[in-house]
Amino acid sequence: MIEIENKNQKKKVIVVGGGFAGLTAARKLLKEGYQVELIEKRPILGGKWSAWKDEAGDWIETGLHVFFGAYDEIFDLMKELNIYDRIDWKEHVLTYTLDKGERFEFRTINLPSPFHLLPAVFQNHYFSLMEKLSLGKALFPIIFGSKKYYDEQDKKTYQDWHRNLGISDKMLKKMFLPMTLALKFLPPEHISAKIVLDVSGTFLRQNTASKIGLLKGSPDTHLTAPICEDIYKKGGIITSELKLSKVELKSDKSIDHLVFEDKNGQTIQKQADNYIFALPIHNLRKLLPKQWIDEHDYFKGLNQIESVPVVTLHLWLDRQISQIDNILFSPDGYIPVYADMSNTTDDYKRNGKSRFQFVVAPAFDFINMTDDQIVNKIWEGIKGIYPDTAPQAKIEKAKVVRIPRSVYWPAKGTDKLRVSQKSPIRNLAIAGGYTKQRFYDSMEGAVRSGNRAADVIITQDQGLNWKDKD
Ligand SMILES: Cc1cc2nc3c(=O)[nH]c(=O)nc-3n(C[C@H](O)[C@H](O)[C@H](O)COP(=O)(O)OP(=O)(O)OC[C@H]3O[C@@H](n4cnc5c(N)ncnc54)[C@H](O)[C@@H]3O)c2cc1C
Repeated sequence: MIEIENKNQKKKVIVVGGGFAGLTAARKLLKEGYQVELIEKRPILGGKWSAWKDEAGDWIETGLHVFFGAYDEIFDLMKELNIYDRIDWKEHVLTYTLDKGERFEFRTINLPSPFHLLPAVFQNHYFSLMEKLSLGKALFPIIFGSKKYYDEQDKKTYQDWHRNLGISDKMLKKMFLPMTLALKFLPPEHISAKIVLDVSGTFLRQNTASKIGLLKGSPDTHLTAPICEDIYKKGGIITSELKLSKVELKSDKSIDHLVFEDKNGQTIQKQADNYIFALPIHNLRKLLPKQWIDEHDYFKGLNQIESVPVVTLHLWLDRQISQIDNILFSPDGYIPVYADMSNTTDDYKRNGKSRFQFVVAPAFDFINMTDDQIVNKIWEGIKGIYPDTAPQAKIEKAKVVRIPRSVYWPAKGTDKLRVSQKSPIRNLAIAGGYTKQRFYDSMEGAVRSGNRAADVIITQDQGLNWKDKD
């Protein structure tokens, strides 16, 4: 035991990418006694869920993020750091806000699954009984479907799967469209059915899985900073504003050293015993040596996974126009999911004034619009959703965040392209929400992938064989 610890202390690992996959991997290796340096190209950490202060001192987040009750390894991480209480769990209800001020809800009750859904079925009056019964046909394959059944659904889009089962089209447009836009920023005709079924299956089988929680303030304050403090406390090094630009190989095609570029264009070489790349796919693709792609199918699939654009609009109003302390869905328009953070988030409260964060999707057209065009288009829609309160309100401030390559496009057939954290390269492990694990492209997925990438190195050093984990 002592021998292994001493051996590990001498080993150095470079983790490239300071999103939650990289941060988790770095922390886990430090806990096991490795020397770790984490390197990030941007000045801020947190990747797709980073936040920064604007000129007025207001936090701007990359995008609206929620935790689901089904997650677990991100909660373990937060409990270890004593920050689990930074999550504010909301009432277990899905609220839909529609044009002309129309509303409907799906409530749950604290009963074993699937009985927790009974109020959702019987109290909802927006859909007819026939429409709700049509959804019932979907419950059986989702709850009792085998792994083989789920895997086969990756050949269909969600829209085809939904229609093949005869589920109502009104449910597709009003309930599942905002769901798929909220999850993957794409409509049901562009998404693999498997991705939606994986999520729905988890939500249906476990009665608290779809419960939603938000952080009590910025991810920087409540998540990234505590993880970084712990990394420093454990002796880790974090270097930001250093971009990986080249991977140099040894004769056996494992990594010899990495070449980084700083913000002044200076190059710096770094060497370690092992490496973890926790990078977005489009960045990773540019760095992969040709020899690796030619020799290993593992890397070929990565060329086929594309990312989706999304826009986040932050809007400060001169009055409160929504009173709901929860995430809100909207099928009519361009903001499938949003929250009045003045209601939902302690640190963003504004004493009687709304502060919205809107996800704008699909964003293929929005991504190239000016800020004013985006604000005007979205504001028109909001006036329809809140016809009694919004028309009198004035916009005090607006901030637009564009993410041209955000989450990965879960097209039909994507599942088989996802890679294990164990790469075919002897001294390289791969982390990232897109790698193989149960929660595709999410915060939980990023943390799980980081834990597994660290485990690849740990098991290798213990002389054990690696087995992919869910
Ligand atoms: C708008 C939006 C909303 C979302 N909402 C939710 C949600 O509600 N719930 C949920 O669970 N998930 C949500 N997600 C998904 C979640 O944010 C991601 O799955 C997760 O953050 C991915 O983490 P990661 O570490 O795998 O990758 P990333 O966060 O992409 O981190 C990769 C890091 O690598 C760095 N990097 C890139 N190239 C280089 C280089 N050459 N050298 C050094 N560093 C480099 C990047 O700057 C980045 O910091 C959302 C995503 C977006 C975009």
